[in-house]
Amino acid sequence: MAKLETSLIHEGEHFNTTKSVVTPIFQTSTYLADDIASFAHAATATKSPEFYHRHGNPNNSQAAALIAKLEQKEDALVLATGMAAISTAVLAVVKSGDHIITQKAHYAASLTFIRDFLLQYGVEVTQVDQTDNDAFKAAIRPNTKLIFVETPSNPNLDITDLEYIGKLGKEHGILTMIDNTFASPINQVPADFGIDIIVHSATKYLGGHSDLTAGAVCGSAAYIEQVWRRSLLLGASLSPFDSWLLLRGLKTLALRVRQINENALALAQWLERQPTIKKVAYVGLENHPQHALAKKQMKGFTGMLAIEIDGKDDTEQFQRAQAILSKLKFFHNAVSLGGIESLITHPASIWGAHQAGKKGNQLSFSKGLLRISVGIEHIDDLIGDFEEALKN
Ligand SMILES: *Cc1c(COP(=O)(O)O)cnc(C)c1O
Repeated sequence: MAKLETSLIHEGEHFNTTKSVVTPIFQTSTYLADDIASFAHAATATKSPEFYHRHGNPNNSQAAALIAKLEQKEDALVLATGMAAISTAVLAVVKSGDHIITQKAHYAASLTFIRDFLLQYGVEVTQVDQTDNDAFKAAIRPNTKLIFVETPSNPNLDITDLEYIGKLGKEHGILTMIDNTFASPINQVPADFGIDIIVHSATKYLGGHSDLTAGAVCGSAAYIEQVWRRSLLLGASLSPFDSWLLLRGLKTLALRVRQINENALALAQWLERQPTIKKVAYVGLENHPQHALAKKQMKGFTGMLAIEIDGKDDTEQFQRAQAILSKLKFFHNAVSLGGIESLITHPASIWGAHQAGKKGNQLSFSKGLLRISVGIEHIDDLIGDFEEALKN
């Protein structure tokens, strides 16, 4: 069996039926049929790559085959965004009257989907502290259909125990699903721990160049067929060009992620020594409260880190964080993550804008928190940039 680096270059290339070395962009909505019989076949086949774009496309089939391979699952489906992947994956298994267990901490739009959308459609939800294994077990009900986890999670980078969750699901006949976006399959392969369904925002590490949006769902062939049937109705197909860009980005996934891991660790170690920084949350640091667990289930520690800027109260922390952010040259202030360029966000500022006019919602993170996605720039320049920005 080919090694990961080789799969990144070659897996799924049989979907390219032309003589072109690089798969062309199949920029078409519909396909010719040779005769009535083959047309009838294409119309009814699961994920037919050559019938009508909502059913499939050769670029999408190739990208999906590669991602399934990376995640060591039988099959995968690519969709237009990470949220399309998450919502379609969940709606393929739960219906009104079912119960799902999720974490308290998830990507923001996933939380809205879980709390607002699913509840409105009669799905029961229990949200638990992801660092407390017993809480997942205690939340199980007779109608629990799915346990949905995210690790490391946004924005505090807490870790969920994947071996425990995989076993818990198997023992109780409950499907388990993970959002593996932050880790990427280079750093974490949830299938190793018996997790059934893996979803990605391929907008992030998988694409890796901040130039596309895409999502992926991986699982058994039978489950992916169900997801595909849902996707025909929900309709969030990935465009041929974005799919082509995704494949182009995937070829360098291992190289990029390894360099990013290395840069992030060096930056985290340097930041930890700075007196103006109260806390550095990076799962690769030995003093991270869950470092041992991270080491057990991850092969690398990602480019995601969170730092808390010190201050005498939260107003000062908020202002200092904003000041540092505005002084940085190489870390651009933008949402999203996982690209080759370093990005930084101030969650309290973004949250403040989202929450304008709403009362009573407490922040689950510090006002001095900055979330960083480390890129592949030279580490000396990244550290130098922070050195300047931290000066008063
Ligand atoms: C970005 C992100 C998503 C959503 O993906 P989109 O491509 O923006 O729809 C979901 N989960 C995580 C962890 C993310 O970072």
